Amino acid sequence: MNFAIGVDIGGSSAKIGAVDASGSVVKRHRLLTPDTNDPVEAVQAYVKGIRQLLDGMTVERGEILGIGVGMPGQIQPDRQSATWSNVPVLDDFPLVPYLSQQFDMAVCLDNDATVAAIAEAYFGSGKEGGRLLVITVGTGIGVGFVVDGRAQRLTRGCMGDAGHIIVDPKGTWQCPLGCWGCLETVATSLALEREALVRGEEQANSTLNQQKLASGEITAHRVIEAAHAGDALACDLIRNMGVWLGLAATSWCHIYGPDLILVGGGVSAAGELLLEPMRSTMKKTGMVSYVDAVAVELASLGNDAGMIGAASLVFYNL
Ligand SMILES: [Zn+2]
Repeated sequence: MNFAIGVDIGGSSAKIGAVDASGSVVKRHRLLTPDTNDPVEAVQAYVKGIRQLLDGMTVERGEILGIGVGMPGQIQPDRQSATWSNVPVLDDFPLVPYLSQQFDMAVCLDNDATVAAIAEAYFGSGKEGGRLLVITVGTGIGVGFVVDGRAQRLTRGCMGDAGHIIVDPKGTWQCPLGCWGCLETVATSLALEREALVRGEEQANSTLNQQKLASGEITAHRVIEAAHAGDALACDLIRNMGVWLGLAATSWCHIYGPDLILVGGGVSAAGELLLEPMRSTMKKTGMVSYVDAVAVELASLGNDAGMIGAASLVFYNL
């Protein structure tokens, strides 16, 4: 059987998986994003992770067709490196030739949201074809777009920085890439934690404030758990995020005209609590001909989408 290695590089951790041609992850490994300013040292951490995964597999070397990498950033025209990424130490580092030389096999690179969209289009909820927009909501926001099975790369080797669409022009928060009031300032896991901290303190007896006092922090995961348990403040925070995402999705609909929007990434664990206000905001703010027929659902591959999509680059490029 043939396999490809999928590497999903994120701002805080990386997931590495051996994926078969049916999109199943047969072995996996996870590592923290290396804390170093030296690009070679950083890449060597990923090399070590890939070697550990390969060493644990009992397959012939020839069955591993190559390595696919998804990066949270812009992809250079020669597709050998990324820039303006969430892992700045790797910006402009020649990742593809370096990994090819280390492993003596084919290496492909693409944007992380694009590969998540490819995974959903081939193996997940987007298998029906058409115009599929996939939004990943985690520490950042990525947008990938696949039309009739073909990944779209409109600018900067991906869908541009669509997660930085301005939704709050009077916003007082600046994102790490320098814009004010963009979607990433109000609808990521980091924004959720920030709002939970502020609003929790205003309501001293709230579950979120009690959790903060008990553990010293409020995580997005805890806020989502509290919302599912019916906590009013947590539900309100998730609802607000859904409204922001709905505003952005309305603009994306007007520009790209998707038939289906799938929402993935860590924050999508909020499920319908997030999707319902997103849908209603789109209906309230958008042009009927664009937004009325668009289905908004959860992505089905969860946190594996980036890994599976990265591996798919190898299958489909070969
Ligand atoms: Zn921004």
